Amino acid sequence: MKTVIVIGAGFAGLSSATFLAKAGYDVTILEKNDSLGGRARVWETEGFRFDMGPSWYWMPDVFERYFKSFGYEVSQLYNLKRLDPSYRVIFGPNDYEDQSANMEELEAMFERLDPGSSSRLRKFLKEAAYKYEVGIKDLVHKPSRSILEFADLRILKGLFQLDLLKNMRKHVAEVSTHPKLKAIMEFPVLFLGALPQNTPALYSLMNYADMSMGTWYPEGGMHKIIEAMVKVAKEQGVKFRTKAEVTGFKYAGKKIVGVLTKTGGFSADIVVAGADYHHIDQEVSDANKREYTKRYWEKRKMAPSSLLFYLGIKGKVPNMLHHNLFFDHELDQHAAELYSSPQWPSKPLFYASAPSKTDASVAPDGFENMFLLMPTAPGLSGDTEELREKYYHIMMERLEQFTGSSIRDRVVVKRSFAYSDFITEYNSFKGNAYGLANTLDQTAILKPRLKSKRISNLYFSGQLTTPGPGVPPTLISGEVVSKEIEKEFKLK
Ligand SMILES: Cc1cc2nc3c(=O)[nH]c(=O)nc-3n(C[C@H](O)[C@H](O)[C@H](O)COP(=O)(O)OP(=O)(O)OC[C@H]3O[C@@H](n4cnc5c(N)ncnc54)[C@H](O)[C@@H]3O)c2cc1C
Repeated sequence: MKTVIVIGAGFAGLSSATFLAKAGYDVTILEKNDSLGGRARVWETEGFRFDMGPSWYWMPDVFERYFKSFGYEVSQLYNLKRLDPSYRVIFGPNDYEDQSANMEELEAMFERLDPGSSSRLRKFLKEAAYKYEVGIKDLVHKPSRSILEFADLRILKGLFQLDLLKNMRKHVAEVSTHPKLKAIMEFPVLFLGALPQNTPALYSLMNYADMSMGTWYPEGGMHKIIEAMVKVAKEQGVKFRTKAEVTGFKYAGKKIVGVLTKTGGFSADIVVAGADYHHIDQEVSDANKREYTKRYWEKRKMAPSSLLFYLGIKGKVPNMLHHNLFFDHELDQHAAELYSSPQWPSKPLFYASAPSKTDASVAPDGFENMFLLMPTAPGLSGDTEELREKYYHIMMERLEQFTGSSIRDRVVVKRSFAYSDFITEYNSFKGNAYGLANTLDQTAILKPRLKSKRISNLYFSGQLTTPGPGVPPTLISGEVVSKEIEKEFKLK
């Protein structure tokens, strides 16, 4: 039996560990924090249960496929509910649109705002369905170690249809240039950490995921996915060590033979780094064994960091759905402050989630559970309490104005989480919240590679390598890396 040490218990670490344990490897996960889930940890206090990171459950087929690999239907592990409307997009104090889960109603909204656009939307989604089929069922499962992996007939034939060379902004404009529809259609690619004009139109597959496949919610919260993954991992024999931050490796030539933590060492035949790639490469590996230079990392385009607030509110907040996007200022200005001239935003857009609208179990009776997220540029200095408070009031002002209700005086629980917490809690490069941006020049073989070239038994998974950021891709990342290990370190 070969011993595998997996560093980090986020989606990628849990996924790779579970696939490898199923294949017969002896797997231990070493996790720095005292709880599991990584960026998808949960924070419980005073009867509130806050999902600390992801809140959008998209691409349910990816989760079905994952759990089926271990003999489970999702329904045996948690109850999934489709949200309808999927979300609310707020354009001003009395101005919003709800994204219906019903395609006819969605098309009616497009017609109302831009007559003639619904038939163009239908065509757009038909093409997006093809991209989803090829992208999520095929491309993302490639380890991206060689361009030859992509030389398969279906992909070559489909290259034109995959729209790799067109950008999302242009593609969306083919459906409508109405500012509201543009915002609604460009929003899903923001998950990929880059601007619509820098994101290949391949990613209209995200619109298919949004509009055609829907927004779902696991009863009890997103952390139910982590709980289910941990249950399945344990059943497959994965062992867990929390409060076990990896600080270095012991080598024999080009090979790691031991993984060091502050409290002891673990021998290893194979290592999977599920923690942020940059951290393992630049801070944990020996200087002469690093995969990339400091300069290489400085040149990577990272997805944004975020300023988050977890709020427990006495009484209910009216006029809110489970997911609410405050697009009441210009996206382009906030985007420029995220990407082209990084700075703290002057007129930020933000996202407000109120899972207690769907799920009574996440807040005490008569209270609201709310989460605010404001994207910020990665690598910004000046993350102080005063600055966090300033943005808290900016967001709350708009929230109170839109909902027509005073909220600040009803807040009974409040915790912020931002740039510097991403670094101390997750060893995140530049405080990124969701990894490496999915721009064309950081796609597939152009991403940091999944297998080290300098250390013969070190692999990487997670949101800084292939296939990219987000819960479904990181689940897949763990599977992809485990298949590579199974090929290269065969068990007798
Ligand atoms: C605020 C926020 C909102 C998001 N919203 C969504 C959403 O709605 N939908 C969606 O699909 N995606 C969303 N994402 C993205 C998604 O959550 C991430 O892409 C995914 O969780 C990343 O998983 P991972 O396993 O790659 O990394 P992580 O979850 O970061 O896991 C890495 C683990 O490694 C541990 N670690 C770090 N250093 C060490 C060390 N030296 N030794 C041991 N352990 C170590 C960390 O503590 C962590 O547990 C969101 C992310 C954030 C932050």
